[in-house]
Amino acid sequence: MALFLKLAELAEQLAGDAGRLKKRAAIAEAIAAVHGAASESEDTGLFALYLAGTPFAEADSRKLNAGGALLSKALLAVSGATDPELTAAYRRHGDLGAAAFDLLEHSRPGSSSGSRPGETHVRESGHGAPRVEARLTLEEVAAAFAAMAAAGTTAIRARLVEGLLRRASPLEAKYLLKLMLGDMRIGVKQSLVEEAIAVAASVPVEEVRHAVMLEADLAAAVKRAFAGTLAEARMRLFHPLGFMLASPVTSPEEAVERFTEKGAESAGVSVEAFLEDKYDGMRAQVHCGDPEQHGRVAIYSRNREDVTASFPELEEAFASVQQPLIFDGEILGWEFATARALPFAVLAQRIGRKRVPNEVRQQIPVVFMAFDLMCANEELLLELPLRERRNRLESAVERLVEAVRSPLTIDERTRGAQGVMFAEPEGVGMERLMLSPSRLVESADDIERAYAEARARSNEGVMLKAAASFYQPGRRGLAWVKLKRELATLDVVVTGAEFGHGKRAGILSDYTFAVRGEGGELLNVGKAYSGLTDAEIAGMSAWMMEHTLEDQGYFRTVEPLMVLEVAFNNIMRSSRHASGFALRFPRIIRIRSDKPVSEIDTVERVEEIYQSQVDKPVEGHA
Ligand code: AMP
Repeated sequence: MALFLKLAELAEQLAGDAGRLKKRAAIAEAIAAVHGAASESEDTGLFALYLAGTPFAEADSRKLNAGGALLSKALLAVSGATDPELTAAYRRHGDLGAAAFDLLEHSRPGSSSGSRPGETHVRESGHGAPRVEARLTLEEVAAAFAAMAAAGTTAIRARLVEGLLRRASPLEAKYLLKLMLGDMRIGVKQSLVEEAIAVAASVPVEEVRHAVMLEADLAAAVKRAFAGTLAEARMRLFHPLGFMLASPVTSPEEAVERFTEKGAESAGVSVEAFLEDKYDGMRAQVHCGDPEQHGRVAIYSRNREDVTASFPELEEAFASVQQPLIFDGEILGWEFATARALPFAVLAQRIGRKRVPNEVRQQIPVVFMAFDLMCANEELLLELPLRERRNRLESAVERLVEAVRSPLTIDERTRGAQGVMFAEPEGVGMERLMLSPSRLVESADDIERAYAEARARSNEGVMLKAAASFYQPGRRGLAWVKLKRELATLDVVVTGAEFGHGKRAGILSDYTFAVRGEGGELLNVGKAYSGLTDAEIAGMSAWMMEHTLEDQGYFRTVEPLMVLEVAFNNIMRSSRHASGFALRFPRIIRIRSDKPVSEIDTVERVEEIYQSQVDKPVEGHA
């Protein structure tokens, strides 16, 4: 029966420790201790899961559905603090968990964050009578999380959160809130927890990582590590794998350089590389063909969200697949008459929709352009060279293309509560699976030509992928490069918003945004208000009202969840923002709801762009 306090104390210690090795040793020791005390229980798994800042295993699709607004309200109710007190505490730390610690320390004289594990702790019940409660166990936290995920209303969820917070010491409350927000901010990523598991159970870390990748369940991996059954982990469909990403290059020559081994002839590409168009759609992974869950299809976006409901045509079409497969590719708005992709802005109207009526199906048809095969049957293909994966992809698509179809519109009355789960008879409906054309590239001229052709097809540019490369999930490696010529843009996260003027009065329309600093912290880098449509701004404003962390009147800080792509004329050094840089004439290119916050650009990238400028402006001297 492990205590949540143990976890909170370790987290607090780790937040103060800088060294990775020291952190790993401390985590390993704690995991071994929890396992030693209760090897049969779920505690060790929960301990690892929570330390990584995840309330549920990745393979588990449950969500807490508790954002900053709900948690702040619960905190106000439990601490008895006023709104301005919460605002002030939040402003001191920029973190709800840390703010909770301050408020609860004050509201509970005598309650000490350092009370020893195992102690019961005495609290005022609110009516003067002291109440004695046992400390929160990990199992109780897990039970509360399960109830939150299953709760039908916000009120029920709020009561559950209050219930947890009322029983928590200030230190426990601090880490409960951070955990519920999915970010512990203690410099511990899942990969470090995996390493610590390996140390604690004396097994190779690669085996732990492999099992986590196959089953997407850190808690299960801990169990397996101690039981010696890591090798028995099998690929499970229906949890997203990490996407491999590309590094940017700005010219065909630079691309050739990347793919030319040192000392090789400078004119040609000595490392074999495939070239394909870079599509401007939505990156997605399609899971289908599980023989035990006939007809089940899941589509995951790059931020690992299940977006299947937004693309019912693809769900219907892939339901016919009979063999377990995971495709990587791009969802594109598609004009069947000309066999061309629709602009991203058109497809964007479908992103985030939960229900897709026939008009939308008809006006913005979608297809899936496959460019990689990640898993076939139970075999994970990531460690095969691209050349081999491509062969398998081609034969899979060839076999399936005729069957993976669905009609342009459907009789909506046939669509039951469960959605349509039927396969089309062959030859009926539109083909929804396409194979991204790919060929080996020969020279810089060849790339230049391909780039022009791709642009003529309204695609964004070209991608080059080393034929011998493995699929590296979640990595932006050098094995894939993307060539697009537009000025550099940055992917940033909105941290605050200001009310606009004139016709935008009362609407949060000016956004302050941040990149990520070296320690993972968010550092503001600019402010922009132009580039979005009125409808998008209205949507953003409503969202921000819901996700406000701190209301300062004309300005609100918001939960850092909304990713934007911004363009700018140049970058200057500036003391105006925490990053030490400011963007000149920033404008929003688009809302990147497909991009997770973990993938926004870094201050290092800002520095790189800054350094690449011929004139390096400094604010006041520019
Ligand atoms: P970026 O969004 O600029 O980081 O570029 C990487 C994105 O390019 C990926 O997430 C994909 O959505 C997209 N992409 C478009 N076409 C391809 C392709 N043929 N291969 C791989 N990624 C592609």
